Amino acid sequence: MKGHIRNKIDESIGRLDEHTEEILVVKEFLIEFDYATKYLSRLLKVRSFIMYLLFFKKAYFEEGLSEITVRLADLGENLLSDLGQPMSGDVVKRGISDLVHLNIIEKSIAKPGQINVYKVKLPSQIKFVQECIAKDLDFKEKIFDDTRTDYYTNPLSRLKILQRDDYKCFYCLRELSKEDFFLDHIKPRAFGGRNYKSNLLASCKSCNTKKNASNSQDFLLQNYRACLLTQREFTRQTNMLQNLVDEYNKINE
Ligand SMILES: [Zn+2]
Repeated sequence: MKGHIRNKIDESIGRLDEHTEEILVVKEFLIEFDYATKYLSRLLKVRSFIMYLLFFKKAYFEEGLSEITVRLADLGENLLSDLGQPMSGDVVKRGISDLVHLNIIEKSIAKPGQINVYKVKLPSQIKFVQECIAKDLDFKEKIFDDTRTDYYTNPLSRLKILQRDDYKCFYCLRELSKEDFFLDHIKPRAFGGRNYKSNLLASCKSCNTKKNASNSQDFLLQNYRACLLTQREFTRQTNMLQNLVDEYNKINE
């Protein structure tokens, strides 16, 4: 699962890499802008960050190229100090050298007459940003992935299994209430079966006792033969059981 998401990031970053020399479509531009404000702002000092935004906007939005030619004096005009004055050349130079030092922009050619060409990286091409994106994805994955959550010991989670199984015993379809139900392990705990939701079934007391450590599929068949289930019900429960077993095996591969 994790590998899958990683591949996706690599894919999208790779895709942007290929298009570095082209105009970004608006959607891509907005995604990149979002990465810049969300992540890059954590890495850079305010002035360097604003300077980067200027480079980024000018390069990718106005010129549609990853390389831009800038006159340092013009950059200063675009940036006002806290006092409302254009930023001095020194301040601009310091900001730029921070960006170069952090490998966020690259100075290509320096010609006399203060014409400078800079190659500007997209936010998604900056290592720090890539690491932040990966961390955020990991975090989201951990929050939403409940396939390995213990559903057996937590009373609220137990109720979720009952709800999933439609408030019926999985083996005989007898109605169950919140106050009176059992959870059965498909792969018995004695054989290393986990408390994952894909290994648990709602069950009545009678089935839970009778089934004991026998195989869930065999037990369904036994109930079908005892006429506790119609053929249709038996087929449906068998399919549902198989889906859970597949899911359980998948996460335990
Ligand atoms: Zn039952």
